[in-house]
Amino acid sequence: MDLRIIGRSSPYAGPGEAAVGYVVDNEGGHMMLECGTGVVAKYLQRYKLSELQGVIISHLHPDHSADLFPLGFAILHSLQQGLRSRPVHLYLPPGGVDTFNAVLEHLGGLQKHYAQAFAYREYRAHVPISIGNWKAYFHRVYHGMSCHGVMVEGEQGQRLGYTADTKMGPELERFFQGVDLLLCEATVDSEEEAQSTNHLTAEEAGRLGAAIGASHLVLTHFLPGTDVDMKKCLAARHFSGKITAAEIDAVYAVGGE
Ligand SMILES: [Zn+2]
Repeated sequence: MDLRIIGRSSPYAGPGEAAVGYVVDNEGGHMMLECGTGVVAKYLQRYKLSELQGVIISHLHPDHSADLFPLGFAILHSLQQGLRSRPVHLYLPPGGVDTFNAVLEHLGGLQKHYAQAFAYREYRAHVPISIGNWKAYFHRVYHGMSCHGVMVEGEQGQRLGYTADTKMGPELERFFQGVDLLLCEATVDSEEEAQSTNHLTAEEAGRLGAAIGASHLVLTHFLPGTDVDMKKCLAARHFSGKITAAEIDAVYAVGGE
């Protein structure tokens, strides 16, 4: 089970970058985790929509969801060309389906088209879903809106944790306990800023990685131009395992390292 970084930027993508988007894949196919600005064109360089088994969105901030608009049209095109026979399961946070459809309606009644591309689902905290050979679990995190962290479990029990966007909160350690790889936002530079913006610092990411016993901590969700080596150094004050700053197009093995 591999994790590929399609984009790592927030809240916008700098030149040649994409906002956040990740792909989890194995021999049987792949799923997309987040679909922020600029993700689809980069995704299509590597992956076929015919093999896309589902899309999970943690929350509807545009750096996590804006490319659902081009993705819907790309899936429609794929259906029209006979490259896919079915819509793609799109898993949104509670309340997300109505919100997304309301936006589409205001964009010229587009919801009719997107209903052919996406089979909408709303996940719920602690109710696992199956996508391909994976199981995904959800937990509401601390981002001031409906936003969920995700834990993806592979067939051999490998586990990927993804914080989505969050500040520190009491349940994060319990939810992510024992994951092999933690993909963790490390957006802001001070704990005051973390509290006021509902994000994490790199030091908090390091503390969380250590508390849950992860073997690999991948930092992500960076403002364009961020000194990512400094982020790694700050996380390493608290986490002694492997630390990586997410790089566009990099692939990281989950478990079995
Ligand atoms: Zn956000």
